[in-house]
Amino acid sequence: MVRIENWAVSYDDPADIYTAPELKSRHLIGKVYGHPGFPDGEEISTGTLLSCSGRTASTRKTTYVLGNPNPDYIAFLAEQGLPEIDPEQPLRIRIQCPNCKSEQYSHFTYCDQCGHRLKITDL
Ligand SMILES: [Zn+2]
Repeated sequence: MVRIENWAVSYDDPADIYTAPELKSRHLIGKVYGHPGFPDGEEISTGTLLSCSGRTASTRKTTYVLGNPNPDYIAFLAEQGLPEIDPEQPLRIRIQCPNCKSEQYSHFTYCDQCGHRLKITDL
C-alpha cells in the first residue's frame, strides 16, 4: 500500500476563480512511502483524484493511504474559514449541488440527492 504523509490538497487551475473548489480537479502533494516509482520520503504531486473512501484516495494508477496532513495546510484551511479536516474522511467537503441545491458532504463525484455529476473526470 502506498502511503502519503504531510499531505495537502491542491486544486488545478488555482487562478480560475469562476469554478467552485468542489468542481475543480484535485490532487495531493506530500511525501510518499512504499511507492514503486519513488524513494521513500520523496515529495510528489499525485495525479488527479478520482475517488476517495475514508482515509484512502485513488488516482487512475495508485491508491494512497492518507497519513497526517501538512500542518501548513491545516493552518491554511483555518485562515480561509474552511471546515476542519475530518480525521475519518479527510477529503470530503461540504458542498451545494449546482443542480438540486441540496447541501451535503460529498466525495466529489455524484450528488447524493439527485445523482448529478459534480465533477467531470477523465477515466
Ligand atoms: Zn443534486
